[in-house]
Amino acid sequence: MIEEYPSEVHGLLKQIAPGWPDQLEVGVGWYPLLVRLDATLSVIAPNYVVQRVKSKFGALSFYAAPSDDPSNFDEAFADAVRAAEWESTQTCEVCGAPARQYVIRLWVSTLCQRHAAEARGDVVDPDPPPSAV
Ligand SMILES: [Zn+2]
Repeated sequence: MIEEYPSEVHGLLKQIAPGWPDQLEVGVGWYPLLVRLDATLSVIAPNYVVQRVKSKFGALSFYAAPSDDPSNFDEAFADAVRAAEWESTQTCEVCGAPARQYVIRLWVSTLCQRHAAEARGDVVDPDPPPSAV
């Protein structure tokens, strides 16, 4: 499965704990953010483990631990994850541009203006019909 992803996220995918799917359940616009988070976490806790990387209500949900010992808590590790989750709420899921959250068809998405318009299906019509004049 890892081969289906761009090489820059392979490092992160390799941290996924046994028994969890080798998947990043987020849009590609968040990959650069995940690459930076992986680099930070690897310094804080070289053997950190990831359970799940997904999107929830338009924000990154990054389930990870500094080690496979559940009693091990690391403040810096938790702070880095929180910072990335916060950053995701301002990063377009599609292209990584500055974004805000939109509710489109009952689904919260974090999108830039262009991708929000596309997701809504907005069509910019340069020629209004004659009856509208
Ligand atoms: Zn975008």
